[in-house]
Amino acid sequence: MKLILLGPPGAGKGTQAARLMEKHGIPQLSTGDMLRAAVKAGTPVGLQAKAVMEAGGLVSDEIVVGIIADRMEEADARKGFILDGFPRTVAQAQALDAMLATKAMKLDGIVELKVDEGALMARIEKRAAETVAAGGVVRADDNPEAFKKRLVAYREQTAPVSAYYASRGALKTVDGMASIDDVTRAINAALVG
Ligand code: AMP
Repeated sequence: MKLILLGPPGAGKGTQAARLMEKHGIPQLSTGDMLRAAVKAGTPVGLQAKAVMEAGGLVSDEIVVGIIADRMEEADARKGFILDGFPRTVAQAQALDAMLATKAMKLDGIVELKVDEGALMARIEKRAAETVAAGGVVRADDNPEAFKKRLVAYREQTAPVSAYYASRGALKTVDGMASIDDVTRAINAALVG
């Protein structure tokens, strides 16, 4: 099973990707997680990405496509994966198509979580509060200023990715405002339907 989860920041992609990972026994490939790990480790990619990420902008297509290409080469990704946070630009979607073609792989599903933008800021604030309550460290970009920029990046650069897949009849849309369990059920139904 090879899947893409699309949707704005705070839509619940990470939560649903973790559930799909468990259900299908395939890894969740989150470019955001990989970039945060690179920043933490202070790798050359991390050093380049840090400031852009903290400001809520998008890291260059070249860097992100490179890390996904490397990750897809790993043994656990052979039988499938859930892409979470990638592709985020049409250029990344095209690079992914080319990558899959060279591996003779096809995507099994592209699911978009549709959410009311007005609810997203509240969700991000809740995520930050829950992280603090659990003794964790809040993401450097989970603050109102960076979040607004992340939404602008989404509208301008990522929304066209949904249109890219929709124009090929490959996009399934799920109501991301429902409860977490209902969203999971809707995704599962969309993937068999
Ligand atoms: P996320 O965890 O998916 O919300 O990603 C956090 C941040 O990492 C984003 O705001 C971007 O700065 C960067 N990022 C993650 N994935 C990508 C991508 N596919 N293309 C560009 N930047 C990305």
